[in-house]
Amino acid sequence: MKKILSRRIGIIERYKEFMCVSDKTLECIVSLNEGDTPLILSEHLAERVGCDLRVYFKFEGLNPTGSFKDRGMTFAVTNAVEEGKKAVICASTGNTSASAAAYASRAGLKCFVVIPEGNVAKGKLCQAFRHGAKVIQIKGNFDQALEIVKQITEKHPIQLVNSLNPYRIEGQKTASFEICDLLGCAPDYHAIPVGNAGNITAYWKGFKEYKQAGKIDSLPKMIGFQAAGAAPIVHGHPIEHPETLATAIKIGNPASWKQAEAARDESGGLIEAVTDDEIVAAYRFLAEKEGIFCEPASAASVAGVIKLAKRNYFKGGEVITCTLTGHGLKDPDLALSFDDEVIVIDADLKKIEKIIVG
Ligand SMILES: *Cc1c(COP(=O)(O)O)cnc(C)c1O
Repeated sequence: MKKILSRRIGIIERYKEFMCVSDKTLECIVSLNEGDTPLILSEHLAERVGCDLRVYFKFEGLNPTGSFKDRGMTFAVTNAVEEGKKAVICASTGNTSASAAAYASRAGLKCFVVIPEGNVAKGKLCQAFRHGAKVIQIKGNFDQALEIVKQITEKHPIQLVNSLNPYRIEGQKTASFEICDLLGCAPDYHAIPVGNAGNITAYWKGFKEYKQAGKIDSLPKMIGFQAAGAAPIVHGHPIEHPETLATAIKIGNPASWKQAEAARDESGGLIEAVTDDEIVAAYRFLAEKEGIFCEPASAASVAGVIKLAKRNYFKGGEVITCTLTGHGLKDPDLALSFDDEVIVIDADLKKIEKIIVG
């Protein structure tokens, strides 16, 4: 007999016992088989920081649209379909719009995305356009975009699919489940970039629910990292003009601020800032030494671990998991901004041989 692949093996189906889903929800699932991303053991980080650590990278760039946003979007769009909505809308630094556009196209819903002009990486913008979203660029920042879409959804029957939508958090918490399933226990620390702070909220919720269900015995300390020029939680006040090359975390007034602080405080972790130089160093380390190409914002988690290890925050022997939130191909402009040597030469064996073997 031919094996028939279910068309819906995404995170809702796999973890439905941990989600609030009805039979009707299961009938409506809009999925691109998101989740089930690899947990890759670091080969070189411990050596680099001179500390005996076991570090794993949860590479979320391998989701269908290239970021973790797909975990939340499958559930948010499924819910929009279940509620009979005909359109979805989001404010976005890029990846939310890419994901919303893809899932909305699959569900046959209209998609509107409001983004800060000039601050969205090209790969993400391509995705929003190709999946047929209506792209509205504002002369303003992410925080202003979010305020506008919130007001629109209060007036019109359009589903908000930013992480204020609780289904986003519910979907995203499944990354914690996968980490624990793969490790067979919880990590000692979980490192994560913090922008609008939905993801750190989701991970902490996931870890707590897994402990409550008896799947793990302990909880990790949550260590979150903001970019130094966009670090409202670290400074304790909103940043009116956030600045960082890590555009995915260029956010001055996070929607899930309180929940991020709760994750930090309940877990005994911390939220700190890393500079753009530290982010770029980690981004290049991951690509050049670990073979993993993530986007700059993603590298904030690893930049943070390197920074903490250098000041002897870890005792040694700990297991640390780091979320790498998105794929490096999302931001080709940054990737090509490093003065790489480009060799252009005749198609001549001798000349090329000379370059290769001297
Ligand atoms: C959305 C995003 C973040 C920030 O996640 P929050 O939930 O907003 O804190 C970080 N990195 C990438 C690549 C993202 O797309």
